[in-house]
Parts: sequence; structure tokens; C-alpha cells
Amino acid sequence: MAAAHHPEFDVAIVGGGLVGSSLAYGLRDGAESIAVLDEGDVALRASRGNFGLVWLQSKGFGMGAYSRWTLGSTRLWPRLAARLLDETGIDVALEQKGGLTPLMGDYEIEARLAWVNKLMAQPGVEPYEWKLLDHHQAASLVPGLGPDVTGAIWTPHDGIVNPLKLLRAFHTAFERSGVRYLPHHGVTRITQAGGVFSLETPKGTIRARKIVLASGLRNGELGEQVGLHLPMAPQRGQIIVLERTRPLHATPMVTLRQNDEGSWLVGDSQEDAGYADHVTTLPVLATLADRAVRTLPALKEVRAVRAWSALRVRAQDGFPVYEQSASHPGAFIVTCHSGVTLAATHALTLAPMIAAGALAPELDTFSTRRFHVQKT
Ligand SMILES: Cc1cc2nc3c(=O)[nH]c(=O)nc-3n(C[C@H](O)[C@H](O)[C@H](O)COP(=O)(O)OP(=O)(O)OC[C@H]3O[C@@H](n4cnc5c(N)ncnc54)[C@H](O)[C@@H]3O)c2cc1C
Repeated sequence: MAAAHHPEFDVAIVGGGLVGSSLAYGLRDGAESIAVLDEGDVALRASRGNFGLVWLQSKGFGMGAYSRWTLGSTRLWPRLAARLLDETGIDVALEQKGGLTPLMGDYEIEARLAWVNKLMAQPGVEPYEWKLLDHHQAASLVPGLGPDVTGAIWTPHDGIVNPLKLLRAFHTAFERSGVRYLPHHGVTRITQAGGVFSLETPKGTIRARKIVLASGLRNGELGEQVGLHLPMAPQRGQIIVLERTRPLHATPMVTLRQNDEGSWLVGDSQEDAGYADHVTTLPVLATLADRAVRTLPALKEVRAVRAWSALRVRAQDGFPVYEQSASHPGAFIVTCHSGVTLAATHALTLAPMIAAGALAPELDTFSTRRFHVQKT
């Protein structure tokens, strides 16, 4: 089949998952023409298999700047949700009235408290409101909370969104604003000559003056081609879905939430399993189910509908990566394991920087240079 002829784009984004889509959405104000190239359903995708939390309280241990960056995104989320609704008519079901990490017993409470205090004391963390709740305080936010939950960490910044509606809203916005979404355009080779990138795909070569690598777990391989050395470390997460119930109006928890449509998600494991996705295992599912029922005993009457696993897109140290290539100016790389939470700041803060051609100095912390420190 002959390759379709495409003009030279201002920006080509490699990867149409949540990260590539949020960037393409935000780039529209600063780029004349945008293409989003996606490989297709054969790829390892987190964007359709995630838990849908907009979550701050567990972010930034070991890198204070990541906590501050995430806080910024939680603040921008209401603006992103409102813009998407206005532009596309799609309500992404953002609920951001706080979130809980339930804790069972003194050991968990003491360990978590020490962890949070250490996180908040790090340089670069912008202080935010959080509290340790006792059982009764937590039960006032989660009707029917089990007696095994003896405490919980709460912040007002956390919340949930429907990640599938989010992806749909971005893609609807593309259709309405001329962003070219090109499926089956898996990029195999990237070259740059005369300030223009050529992206080779099975459907022909796409040319663009700037490129953004947002291909999830493939960013390691593609980054090499533009001088960006990014060690990837996927992490598997398994999730159980329960049937719909009446809305409980419970504050979402880090491993248990009700969807806007009434179904429940029980999750999500953190496993070092290489690239083995689409694998669910009974011991892990049993642990998730046991903890869910101890958290909310009424769930033992609710039927399980299905379970799945997906791979988290993670750099080796688990923190985001943002960088423009020094050897191939105009090539940017974006990788993170919280693409739902960070969608707002990716669209509204990072995309304008990419459009302007330079990342702000505050993002230096997130470059791949941290993986290549000379050891003496
Ligand atoms: C179990 C689980 C739970 C999670 N829960 C949360 C949560 O609650 N909150 C949160 O914020 N985050 C969560 N995440 C993380 C979040 O889902 C990811 O950060 C996000 O989806 C990453 O998006 P991405 O676009 O980088 O990657 P992906 O979703 O992997 O998308 C990458 C895209 O690139 C395309 N691609 C790959 N190679 C090529 C190529 N060569 N050329 C062109 N296209 C290519 C693929 O087809 C794919 O569409 C979770 C993840 C998992 C697995």
C-alpha cells in the first residue's frame, strides 16, 4: 500500500496514550500543526489499564521536586476537566474532595507516619495539608469502613477521574481542532537533518520540526536514537473489578474506589515482573481481595466481574523524566508512572514549554542525567 502523503508537521508526538495525548492537547495553542503517531493495540499500554487516581500523598519520597510538581498538577486538574467538558462535552468525572490511605494496626500506622514525615521534610517539598485520622474520623468519610482499618492518612488534594473518558476527551478534542491522530504508525527509526526529524513507520515517513517521545515503555529504545539514555523498569499492577452498586459516596482510597458508573476497582499490586503484562495471579488477587473486604466488609457480597494487569511506565528510579536532547535539539522525551495525575500539568504547564522550545530550569532535576552520574 502506498504511504499517505503528509505535510511537514510542526510537532510529531510518538505515542497516543495518556502522556502523548495530554501533551498534544496542550501543544495546540503553541504549534501550527500536530501529529500523534501511535503503534496500535500491540503495544504495552498503561493508559487503559490504570486505577484512575489523581493522587499526591504517595509521591516524591526520594525526590522532593516530584512532590511539588504533582501538587501543581492536582491544583490544575479542575481547570483541565472544565476545559475538556466545555470543548468536547465529555465529563471526565473528576472528584477531588480528598483521598485516604487506609492503615491496619499500629505497625502500619507508625511506619506510614514516619514515612510521610520524612517525605514532607525533604528539600523541594512544598508543604501541604495532610492528617492522620483515627478509625472514627476515617469512617465519617467512608460509610461502612471495617474495624480493621484503625487509621488513615488523608489529604484534601487527592481524588479520582475516569481515565477512559479522559483519553476519549483528548481524542475528541483532536478531531475538533485538527490534530492528526495516526494509528498504525509505530515509529521504528528516527533521524534528523537540516533541523527536520524523519520518523520511519510502516505507513511511510513522517517529518516534523519537533518531536516528543511519549511511547511509554518504548521510550528507552526510541530515546537511544536521539541521544537520550533512559533506563526503563516496568512494574506490573493487577486490578479486580467488582459489579456496580448504588453510589456509596465514599472518599476514594489508594487501593479501593468506586467509579462514576457504580462499579468498584480493587487494586493495585506493584510487581517487578519484567515485560509480562496481561498476567493475573491468584496469590496477588487474593491479597487484594482480602484487604478490600477488610476495608469495606460489605464488598464481600459484591460479585467480581473481571481482573486484569497492566505495566506501569517507569524509569529506573520511578520518577518522571523530562528532557530535550542535547545532540538532537527539538527532540523531547516524557516518561512518568502517574500519567493520570500529571495529565493536567503535562497539558497546561509542560506542553507550553515544549511549544516554546525549552524546558524551564526547574525541570532539570527530571533529566536523564541523574542516571549517568560519574562514579569515582
Ligand atoms: C495498574 C496500573 C495502575 C495505575 N494507576 C494510576 C493511577 O491511579 N493514577 C495515575 O496517575 N497513574 C496510574 N497509572 C500510571 C498511568 O496509567 C501511566 O502513567 C500512563 O498511562 C502512562 O501513559 P503513557 O502514554 O506514557 O504510556 P502508555 O499507556 O503505555 O502509552 C504509550 C503509547 O505509545 C504507543 N507506542 C509504543 N511504541 C510506539 C512506537 N514505536 N511508535 C508509536 N507509538 C508507540 C503505544 O501504542 C501506546 O498507545 C497506573 C498504571 C498501571 C499499570
